[in-house]
Amino acid sequence: MGRLRDPDGGFGRILTNMTFRARIAALVCVLACMPVHADQKRWWSHVEALANDGMAGRNTGSPEHQKAAAYVAAAFQRAGLQPAGIDGYIQPVKFKTRKIVEAQSSLALERDGKTEPLTLGDDANFSMRIDPAPSVSAPLVFVGYGLNIPEQHLNEFEGLNLRGAVVVYINATPASLTGPLQAHFGSAGERWRMYKAAGAIGTISISNPRTTDIPWARSTLARLQPSMSLADPALDDAAGQQFSVTMNPARADKLLQGTGHTIAELLALVDAGKALPHFAIPTRVKATVKVDRGDLVSQNVAGILRGGDARRRNEYLIVSAHLDHLGVGEPINGDRIYNGAMDNASGIAAMLEVAAELHERNAAPARSMLFVAVTGEEKGELGSKYFAAHPTVPADRIMANVNIDMFLPLFPLKTLMVLGLDESDLGTDIRAVAAQLGLAVQADPEPQRNRFARSDQYSFVKNGVPALAMKVGYEADTPEAEIARKWTAERYHAPSDDLQQPIDLDAADKYVDVLRELALRIGNRTDRPKWNDASFFKRFATPGASNSRQ
Ligand SMILES: [Zn+2]
Repeated sequence: MGRLRDPDGGFGRILTNMTFRARIAALVCVLACMPVHADQKRWWSHVEALANDGMAGRNTGSPEHQKAAAYVAAAFQRAGLQPAGIDGYIQPVKFKTRKIVEAQSSLALERDGKTEPLTLGDDANFSMRIDPAPSVSAPLVFVGYGLNIPEQHLNEFEGLNLRGAVVVYINATPASLTGPLQAHFGSAGERWRMYKAAGAIGTISISNPRTTDIPWARSTLARLQPSMSLADPALDDAAGQQFSVTMNPARADKLLQGTGHTIAELLALVDAGKALPHFAIPTRVKATVKVDRGDLVSQNVAGILRGGDARRRNEYLIVSAHLDHLGVGEPINGDRIYNGAMDNASGIAAMLEVAAELHERNAAPARSMLFVAVTGEEKGELGSKYFAAHPTVPADRIMANVNIDMFLPLFPLKTLMVLGLDESDLGTDIRAVAAQLGLAVQADPEPQRNRFARSDQYSFVKNGVPALAMKVGYEADTPEAEIARKWTAERYHAPSDDLQQPIDLDAADKYVDVLRELALRIGNRTDRPKWNDASFFKRFATPGASNSRQ
């Protein structure tokens, strides 16, 4: 849905957006308990303000994103936050943009003196997240999951010559690794670090259709949208990468011809959690790429709730959420506005609600809270990466991060899914808050989806800051798990993540309670949060690391 319509919804619109049960509950509230649930209404009003069609999907760098940033800044001001940007609440972030000119680009496979052209959009797509070379001709090597992690005694490059090659890998991580290791080493930045060290010049990734969040048919629609990277070259994880292609898994046998392997066989091994074979492919890839390049500026928005303790008020808990979404793109069911209501107007709304509630209760904690709405998340967590590298408070005073991204209040909140639960002693804080609010707690039930590394908390984690991110949780094989699965398959990064979807307002309300209580608890701790000794991420906190960079 989400065709152009009156952006001003009102409470009647809220009612039509809800399930029958929630509608009855809301009507009862309108009649009987409005004061109690005024918070709920205000949360939804923020979602409406940010995700209506007039906001055009808040694409990074767009005028609508700027409008959304002004909306957040105004809400920060109402909540009594001190401006903590460069220009008032705003921290400008510079980007480079790249858009493929498909008509002047080509991709082909060469084997036995014959050339097989690939069809862009159907067989494979160039990724513009990297800055591609105008032409590439290189041998292909299949490297399985594509990981070389000495400390885990895992080396899938062994015996292969990757010098000057394009590595072909299945974009999955072996179940033999713990969740955090899967999250970290499965990220594009870490992967490129390994491939570059082995002398490779580029990548072809094949996703596993069984576990991928976005099916090929939908992801390919986004290929003509501009991609972005931070203008600061020091913050470019893909430096040196000349070629990046994503292969349609349904066409991946084109790559594997002559190897004796099929994609079905390889994906079956992945699904069974088994090791993958590695082999040179008797084929070269040949590409020419034409790119339209540009520059733009987008906005982070930052505000401080000053803490009350004379000493600790110079330490900061960062509460973050991304403001950007995908903008206007290829239509699905006639709708081209990617509103991003859950992804992530919902998270910004929760952050604004926490700031407002703390203000109304006059409840400043001992430490300061730095609320940051970041841009460029959908382009690769870029706004948070910029903020973590150029914080507007001293970097060594940032002591924790709580990030909110697409927490999905689609059904009652009974269990909190906590990403990073067992990595730092923030786990103790969230368990205490959950117990106080009568909620169960679970770690990420699907670590292979790399969620801890796939949102803005990871920008802070990599700078040594302990972090948590929470979602409305569910147990496997329950109706709730099916609702979440269906949402991801149908609405995630689709125009139907709009204001016309069933939302559980009670769940959102309870989530805001969790967030507020957690922020207060962390803000009032006597000691700084610490990584657990056994945590993989503790390594980023070593003295002299980027944690102290400013
Ligand atoms: Zn997203």
